[in-house]
Amino acid sequence: MIDHPEPSLVSPSDVKMRMLDVGICGTDKEIVACDYGTPPDGSPYLIIGHESLGEVIEVGPAVTRVKPGDLAVPTVRRPCNDPMCIACRDGRQDFCYTGKFTERGINQRHGFMTEFVVEEERYLNPVPRELRDVAVLVEPLTIAEKGVTQLWQVQQRLPWAVAGRNSHRAVVLGGGPVGLLGAMKLVLEGFDTTVYSRTPAASDLERLVTGFGAKFAHAETVSLEQLAEQVGTIDVVYEAVGASSLAFQTMPFLGTNGVFIFTGVPGRKGPVSVDTDTIMRDHVLKNQVVFGTVNASLQSFADAIADLGTFMQRWPDAVRGLISHRFPIDQLAEPLSGRAGGIKNVIEVSR
Ligand SMILES: [Zn+2]
Repeated sequence: MIDHPEPSLVSPSDVKMRMLDVGICGTDKEIVACDYGTPPDGSPYLIIGHESLGEVIEVGPAVTRVKPGDLAVPTVRRPCNDPMCIACRDGRQDFCYTGKFTERGINQRHGFMTEFVVEEERYLNPVPRELRDVAVLVEPLTIAEKGVTQLWQVQQRLPWAVAGRNSHRAVVLGGGPVGLLGAMKLVLEGFDTTVYSRTPAASDLERLVTGFGAKFAHAETVSLEQLAEQVGTIDVVYEAVGASSLAFQTMPFLGTNGVFIFTGVPGRKGPVSVDTDTIMRDHVLKNQVVFGTVNASLQSFADAIADLGTFMQRWPDAVRGLISHRFPIDQLAEPLSGRAGGIKNVIEVSR
């Protein structure tokens, strides 16, 4: 373990937090395998950790939204410096044009797997105390929040298909944390939602999925054709597997006026063969929209915190079931190596 200097407040709008929980995801595993990630300039190492929850312990004189004792979740992406990047200048670095954004725990900025973090207030989201045990799920939930916000923006083109009307069917590809949180969000939005997963030990996953009102289809025993038959018209596909072959195999089953949402970042596994004529025909003749989404704005974090509260009221066991294991920080190699298994593994940085 590296002895990293304890940070202190620099500007009047800074907030110092004691970090409580840090979630481990595929990106962290890629970073520790040196496949991804960049340390800050001049640093020989990168502190990982981008899914997090902290407790505020000190605030600068200009801070108004949080106070010592509050829980808070920081956003991850920080704006680029280009004065012409209208996205970053508008506080929407999740849409950065230049690609020169930075990310805490991933790209040129240290992350949150450390005892203390200092962050500007504008990147923090206060979290109600009752979400203490699950708020580390806020960051992965922001993927679904931003995705569903854009879904409804796209579907404004269909006046009858607006949020709150319950006649839509969604398929979620993938039974990992991103897929399951996405499925919860889609159920909350009124979608008849089916999670399609290859994950082994499906019976536990099936119980969890049906526990929050979604359906479960096991990819080992249900083909895509059978899935499409079971579901009916698929209005939305929410991809959360990061496997491009499965994603593109699913595309021909997207229904008329449907939307396909990519959230995964596949590794380069070599080319796969795709029937591009059929896909292009369908996109045109069925008015389909395909978009990718990367998280996330401060608003998506606020939406995630609010929705996580609703999830906990409706399906507390399913939400708690997403967190498979909690590890003390001296055992962080277990989840980072992938040996730990489970859905979401969390490091307890402090208690
Ligand atoms: Zn930018």
